[in-house]
Amino acid sequence: MKEKLYAIPVNDAFSGDCECPVCLMRKTLEDAAIEYTMGPSYMEDDTRMQTDEKGFCQKHMEMIYTSGNKLGIALILKTHFDRVIRETSSLSEKTDEKKGLFKKTASDGKSPLLSYLEKLNSSCFVCERIGQVFDRYIDTIFYLWKSDSTFKERYTHSNGFCNEHFRLLMEKAPDSLRGSDLDEFVTITRQLYQSNMERVRDDLAWFIDKFDYRNADAPWKNSKDAIPRAMIKSNGIIQNDK
Ligand SMILES: [Zn+2]
Ligand SMILES: [Zn+2]
Repeated sequence: MKEKLYAIPVNDAFSGDCECPVCLMRKTLEDAAIEYTMGPSYMEDDTRMQTDEKGFCQKHMEMIYTSGNKLGIALILKTHFDRVIRETSSLSEKTDEKKGLFKKTASDGKSPLLSYLEKLNSSCFVCERIGQVFDRYIDTIFYLWKSDSTFKERYTHSNGFCNEHFRLLMEKAPDSLRGSDLDEFVTITRQLYQSNMERVRDDLAWFIDKFDYRNADAPWKNSKDAIPRAMIKSNGIIQNDK
């Protein structure tokens, strides 16, 4: 059963003190996917065919760039460019120059060139590699909620979630949970989200108050890293040094 396979990384994420354990699970997958992309695999034909076709989204292109292997990046980008140039020039030739780019020919009502570019601009080798396993991780949260009281305890005492993963958990819960399992999950997840958003909001408030000269000698309490923690809650950004 796949859910059992993923129980360890899911439990690990919920054991830490991250402001969103789901973000932490995703970040671990993301780092592994970047490492894979820039490891020996980019010289393998089937991986290269996929990176040539899909390319990378803005975020992952930046992560790949900062990963350091400049020769590898240049090789991957060169054959990706070869593919994009070949596809766009052949689709442009098929487009009637005078009637223009906007002539609707494909089944989705768009010209083949625009359809190709839309697909290209929304595809990313790293996002797709993360996506399937990430979905299984989410299923595993629900599986463990039903079957593992230790996990349930861990979940209930976590630091809550970012906006996006609160949405995701609320949306997906009815697909995997029923009856009292579902009711309890929804109630606890809502409370967790709300109370932990308030906690981080209060940390931000004290961070602001510390700028008042009258508080110069007051303790920071839990506010020193309020901004990076708030960035996880609001945008799912986990900084590498955090
Ligand atoms: Zn998150
Ligand atoms: Zn991506």
